[in-house]
Amino acid sequence: MPSDRPVHITRPEVEARIGALGKEISRDYADGRLVVAAVLRGAVYFAVDLTRRLSVPFTLDFLAISRFGGTARPHGVVRITKDLDENIYGRDVLLLEDIVDTGLSLSYLLRTLAAREPASLKVCTLLDAPGRRIVDVPVEYVGFRIPDQFVVGWGLDAGQSHRGEMAIRAVQPE
Ligand code: 5GP
Ligand code: MG
Ligand code: MG
Repeated sequence: MPSDRPVHITRPEVEARIGALGKEISRDYADGRLVVAAVLRGAVYFAVDLTRRLSVPFTLDFLAISRFGGTARPHGVVRITKDLDENIYGRDVLLLEDIVDTGLSLSYLLRTLAAREPASLKVCTLLDAPGRRIVDVPVEYVGFRIPDQFVVGWGLDAGQSHRGEMAIRAVQPE
């Protein structure tokens, strides 16, 4: 995606891409111990749409984190505020994110979840903004790679607004 123009990804584009991801993930997880773990709150919309497109059995679960200090303290502490309900030991875990930006939240989550010894642990994100990465994190499935712009819609918010919008678009950060 060119970095000069504002990001705008339409509903049919998002739906088609999520359908393709669903097919790819269904091929990769054919033998069924899959736990789809979505990160609240932003990944909820993506999680619903993606899991509807899976043709393999799965268990859906959620977790929430908060990052203290926000962008002013990019290395600030990350903490789980709502943990998974499932025991992931020996399971295949697919972590769903709305967007991977600095990678800080994800790197913390991957370390924490890996310690529980899942059979496998991979990441699927609707959006990837590699231009803002601070820590390198492995991301197996990416919906759209976007330039360094603040985006809303499809679950992504700006001050809790815009989550329900069925398109992804750049806005001026607050
Ligand atoms: P990280 O910087 O740790 O990779 O991303 C942490 C979280 O910040 C993301 O999961 C997302 O909830 C939020 N975030 C990062 N970039 C954006 C963005 O461009 N738009 C919105 N709405 N949220 C973002
Ligand atoms: Mg998120
Ligand atoms: Mg947010």
